[in-house]
Amino acid sequence: MTEANTKFDCLKCGECCRDLIVNESLGLVLFPNEIRYFPSSSIEPCLGKGKKPNHSSFKIWAYQLNEMNCSNLINNSCKIYETRPRVCRQYPFSVKSFSNTRTDVSISPDCTSQQNALATGEFKEGQLSQYFEEEKYAISTARWMIKFQSRNKKKDTPWVFDMKNQKWTVASNLHLLRG
Ligand code: SF4
Ligand code: SF4
Repeated sequence: MTEANTKFDCLKCGECCRDLIVNESLGLVLFPNEIRYFPSSSIEPCLGKGKKPNHSSFKIWAYQLNEMNCSNLINNSCKIYETRPRVCRQYPFSVKSFSNTRTDVSISPDCTSQQNALATGEFKEGQLSQYFEEEKYAISTARWMIKFQSRNKKKDTPWVFDMKNQKWTVASNLHLLRG
């Protein structure tokens, strides 16, 4: 891959800012410094680390948005575009796998631009000839997820909050940050 200097060809359809809650339990993931751009009534915890959720060592690592359609989407434009969350910056990309020599990135089949590109044969997943700027956010998010899921000590257990059941459960094999 060459240097990330090309933006993905976004059609600005706004589809990726709608239907944000997956299986009624997981919303758009927000990092702590991003929740101020959303109504506080729409914010729920998402990822935490510690011995138990009610333990003094427990720390929230990320939040989630309890909105099906993002309230920052106005006329198909993001009203906080310059400060939009990291998971929005990486869409429609996510990292499938890492190794020392190779990073495999996937593109969401839900993205309208990607659907058009596939229909016209413009490009196919795994055959990208350029490095899109959005991919660098996908890679940095994936690195963050690896750090989150690492369990060096017992008290480092990673937890995920299920909005539907309003319960924390121990996280295993998480692959949840968009794309
Ligand atoms: S779904 Fe794809 S084309 Fe539409 S706004 Fe999102 S990134 Fe752009
Ligand atoms: S913050 Fe902006 S880019 Fe992200 S989901 Fe909301 S409207 Fe879309």
